[in-house]
Amino acid sequence: MEKPTTWSFKKLVFDIKTKILRPGIFKSHLKAKQDLRYKKIDKLNFKRRKRIVKHAYKNTSYYHKKYEALGSDFRIRSEKDFLKLPPVTRDDLANNFERLKVKNANSRNSRKVSSSGSTGRPISVLHDMRFPYTVLQWRILSWWGVRPYQNQAYIYRYKRPFFKKISNTWLWWPTKRIFLSGAEMDLKSVNKFVKKINRLKPELLQGYVDVVYEFALFLMDNDLRIHPPKMVWVTSAPLFENQRKVMEKVFGAPVCDQYGNTEVFTIAAECPRQNGLHIMHDSVHVEVVDNDNNPVPKGIIGKILITDLRNKIFPLIRYEIGDRGKLLKTTCGCNIPLPLMENVRGRQSVMLRTPSGLTIRGEHLTILFEKYLHNIREIQLIQKEDYSVDFCYVSKPKTDEKKEVELILGHLKTKTRNEIIIQPKCVDVVEKKGQKKPLIISHLK
Ligand SMILES: [Zn+2]
Repeated sequence: MEKPTTWSFKKLVFDIKTKILRPGIFKSHLKAKQDLRYKKIDKLNFKRRKRIVKHAYKNTSYYHKKYEALGSDFRIRSEKDFLKLPPVTRDDLANNFERLKVKNANSRNSRKVSSSGSTGRPISVLHDMRFPYTVLQWRILSWWGVRPYQNQAYIYRYKRPFFKKISNTWLWWPTKRIFLSGAEMDLKSVNKFVKKINRLKPELLQGYVDVVYEFALFLMDNDLRIHPPKMVWVTSAPLFENQRKVMEKVFGAPVCDQYGNTEVFTIAAECPRQNGLHIMHDSVHVEVVDNDNNPVPKGIIGKILITDLRNKIFPLIRYEIGDRGKLLKTTCGCNIPLPLMENVRGRQSVMLRTPSGLTIRGEHLTILFEKYLHNIREIQLIQKEDYSVDFCYVSKPKTDEKKEVELILGHLKTKTRNEIIIQPKCVDVVEKKGQKKPLIISHLK
């Protein structure tokens, strides 16, 4: 832990810099705090939904056409009206990029981001730079007692360009931010990074699930220890419960799970009580629906639809993000007035298929595997064109994984009704697709 005097100096510099250099962020930061204090957060969410629908209808040719069928005097007056809006699929997004933009979109008020394509077809969206999404991240950090001006450690997938490193150092001075890239996970670089962590004692360790997990395993294998941060923040892929346990043990700190993706960065995140993910209800509207797009009750799994309440450049309304999940009936017990959803497990688009047409979704397998992964580190199922499956696994060094392999194999065979050949294969690394390591890779036509 840093001394309070260093803290307060950092806070002072941070406040001044933010106020002067990024007044927009500072104002939104204050506003976001107020939104949360807003007693009727549901009302605020609904008000913003009405506003974004009206805005999208008026300013984009895509939504204008899409909602025209609802009648020229169509307005959102109730939840029922909102449910009449037809969802937007990933394919719609891929095919209508230009038509989804508002007329005044330009390079100053928006930034184009593209998904890696590992979860299906690659797609691009524009983020609205006028809404500083950083404030949502600060909000989550504050739940965990981490302030943005405290030292932080990051693990990226790639090495950062030299100039970016330098500018970042200046931008954040006197706060120290240190980086390691997944690409340089060797003893020399990791040792250096560990020494830095132990000297600067960052409050936060942040990165993509796969590289942070790799870092944890590396520390474990090489008997290295880091000064425990207050919290570990992992993003970008569903988190296995087993991975979380390993990370929490190795880092000596809780791992905060969050839900977000390229299209909408911050959708929901855990508070320290870890009773589910709090939805950023003032910024994002999350729905769970069945295959006919009718809402399912809380506690039931369905397709997730996202409405970004803040993106006025590239509106996403009832967007079918390609994930399945559920809203929770329970409340958290903390004082955060934001509703809860469960962690998203696995992607909707990837599944195993059998010749008779049976499908097994990734999320079911994730839950199944969690129970058995002790001596196995990573799993990947590769389904070939002839339906046969390579069950690839990476085992921990000096352990006997045979029993686990047998158990998992047995379950996979039962789930696929013995219709397909499944071949276990011990591998050194699992395949990457884009930047991710998918659980299922399907070569089926
Ligand atoms: Zn909570």
